[in-house]
Amino acid sequence: MRSYASGPSARALTGQTIGEALAATAARLPDGLALVSRHQDVRLTWSELAAEVRDVARGLLAIDIEPGDRVGIWSPTRVEWTLLQFATARVGAILVNVNPAYRPAELAYALGQSGVRMLVTAPSFKTSDYVDMVASVRASLPALERVVVLGPDWDSLVDGGRSVGVTRLHEREAALDCDDPINIQYTSGTTGNPKGATLTHHNILNNAASIADVLGYSDADRVCIPVPLYHCFGMGIGNLGCVSSGATMVYPAESFAPDPTLDAIAEERCTSIYGVPTMFIAMLESPHFGDLDLTSLRTGIMAGAPCPVEVMKRVVNEMHAQEITIAYGMTETSPASTMTRRSDDLDRRTSTVGTVLPHVEVKIVDPTTGATVPTRSPGELCSRGYLVMRGYWENASATAEAVDAAGWMHTGDLAVMDEEGYVNIVGRAKDLVIRGGENIYPREIEEVLFQHPAVAAVQVIGVPDARMGEELMAWLTFREGDSATDDELREFCRERLAHFKVPRYWKTADEFPMTVTGKVQKFKMREVAIAELGLEEAAGIQTA
Ligand code: AMP
Repeated sequence: MRSYASGPSARALTGQTIGEALAATAARLPDGLALVSRHQDVRLTWSELAAEVRDVARGLLAIDIEPGDRVGIWSPTRVEWTLLQFATARVGAILVNVNPAYRPAELAYALGQSGVRMLVTAPSFKTSDYVDMVASVRASLPALERVVVLGPDWDSLVDGGRSVGVTRLHEREAALDCDDPINIQYTSGTTGNPKGATLTHHNILNNAASIADVLGYSDADRVCIPVPLYHCFGMGIGNLGCVSSGATMVYPAESFAPDPTLDAIAEERCTSIYGVPTMFIAMLESPHFGDLDLTSLRTGIMAGAPCPVEVMKRVVNEMHAQEITIAYGMTETSPASTMTRRSDDLDRRTSTVGTVLPHVEVKIVDPTTGATVPTRSPGELCSRGYLVMRGYWENASATAEAVDAAGWMHTGDLAVMDEEGYVNIVGRAKDLVIRGGENIYPREIEEVLFQHPAVAAVQVIGVPDARMGEELMAWLTFREGDSATDDELREFCRERLAHFKVPRYWKTADEFPMTVTGKVQKFKMREVAIAELGLEEAAGIQTA
């Protein structure tokens, strides 16, 4: 039997745009609670949310934002993020999600590559002064006409829209199509530089609706969303999943921290919780964990990185999320391809990434021949259907490498499928490290370290870690007679890279393990590192 599965579907796909979906929910549940942003002390009903979105959309029309224009958002979790998400969708502009941890070079790359015309930015976040950083790169961004800082700038954007008649907005909306690109998310992709996965209304709305269905959402559900909005997990599965089902979006804090998340669950009586494995581990380890009443929890999703079986079991038993699920996917597939079902037995719900979602196909292929492998044999997971992105923004060659002529997205993830279609993720063919749910492409860090005057050669690998899943390790050789301390190298990286890309471990080596043809063998480096750093226990953790 071949490793191929197609997801049966009781529910039809929707041909709505995101604006239409929001309007339908606001009409159905005008007084239902749509959104709670706890750190901002904001609570909005669906009719209030829809009205605020309408006003931001009018503000965008007032400054002549055209269909297809790129509008960037650089902010941690805030209501304004979501208002802009829906407002851009209503006027047909493409929202470009910018990672809140970016440093100036990363910011300039994302804004420049996508040609962002207008950027909405928070004033600052943690130790990052966003306004300063934007100013430092603005000269290199000719397309960037306008920067709107959240606060008075944002208020004037909205005020400026008051003169725009609602009919103009409706005319604009009538011209939109659900297949229009509506969102660009930068991801490491399967190889190379960050690429802008370009997604349509149809892509992300349908994936979110499908997942909301699997979780059995209704307007009685309250979904705790501590995952970042810049990723599909937040703005897609989170925000759009609530819009399609009428469930409430609950934002615990600007960015993930265990205690505000636990407080949000307890005080808002959340029924569902989302997180990458690291977030669940941090919540379970919080000293306050035992003090809180989490009995309202029913379901949720763990995803984004390999999910440890033991952590899943603790979420079922100790967090009361009896119906917790695992989803597997990637930004390029909107994001989820497979998911466990609430009706699956406990073993399968904790030790597999489930089965293919409705309207989706998955297969597992031999990465060299492309042939579909028999069940229970490892190979590269591919997925196909409405969920596959339109392509990487202005990068046809990378798109052609990722999505083949038959429409299959080649994920770069190694997986096994059993006869009933349950999938296990067993490794990665792509050169990618996932630290606490953040994807890191080693070459980006290697290129930065190469710029250091003392460094002759560098290789960056991921090593196992019980909390973060993986941590980064850099192996270096120095130029003759030169050297640098770990602290100097760390500081050098900190100035140039988001904090999560700064290696934790450093090793000076005379040479790297190579094949006879001179190709560095990262898997060997990983074995050496596990032995030298004593990481055998973390390396042995069983995941879904
Ligand atoms: P992203 O594009 O940021 O969503 O990252 C996608 C990658 O995360 C996938 O290609 C996988 O390598 C990994 N990933 C996502 N979900 C899971 C999961 N449930 N188990 C294992 N790996 C996962």
